[in-house]
Amino acid sequence: MKELVKGHFVKRNDLMKAPIVEIFSSFQGEGLWIGKRQIFVRFAGCNLSCNYCDTPNSQNASNGVLKSPEEVLEKINELKTPDLHSISFTGGEPLLYPDFINEIVDKTDLKIMIETNGTLPDSLYKIKRMNCVSLDIKLPEHFDGDWDENILNNEFLSLKSLVENNIKFYCKIIISPSTNLDVIKRIGEKLHDKFMDEKFTIVIQPQSPIEQWKNNSDILFDFSELLGEYFEVFTIPQTHKILNIE
Ligand code: SF4
Repeated sequence: MKELVKGHFVKRNDLMKAPIVEIFSSFQGEGLWIGKRQIFVRFAGCNLSCNYCDTPNSQNASNGVLKSPEEVLEKINELKTPDLHSISFTGGEPLLYPDFINEIVDKTDLKIMIETNGTLPDSLYKIKRMNCVSLDIKLPEHFDGDWDENILNNEFLSLKSLVENNIKFYCKIIISPSTNLDVIKRIGEKLHDKFMDEKFTIVIQPQSPIEQWKNNSDILFDFSELLGEYFEVFTIPQTHKILNIE
């Protein structure tokens, strides 16, 4: 895990800014809120470096343009449409910037979604209002050697905070045709042991591009059956890529 980079936002004369890659309107392409119209605020900067990352440009904070919460809100207001479901804070890792997100949350009535890698439980805990959360469960294979159990432990702490605060969420697990069933089994059992009484939803997300599943789709049923023993399970690919939209 990369060292958590602090100070990605700066305060100048009480003006807080954060590095933003883009703000745009589209359909949510992943998970339980798939198809919902959202305004996406993509932060630059991430504390992880997953090898499948489909937004590599957002991993480095220096790739963003520093914007104030007011500038972000102005753009959000420009992009509002009648079918809008929520603002999605995404990245990179949006929870590197909890104070900045709170500045926006304080000034809007729009619903808030957070798309997070789940490894920053203290920051998640700080967010004043969240209507829905997508939280990744990272696998060892998602990293070129720098996965450690702390990643999973921090994801579990984030989940605990969501459960305790009664926030709607789902866990997302990205799998590839070579993902090891035993690894998923171990994580599933660990999750079940920790949160035995909770009703969890897990979204299994077959890695894009979807063509790689053409002759491998059988194992998707294996993953679903394995996790379905303990959780509500959906298997959903990234639809925005199929539609060729952002
Ligand atoms: S956590 Fe998300 S943004 Fe960060 S490297 Fe992994 S996939 Fe990319």
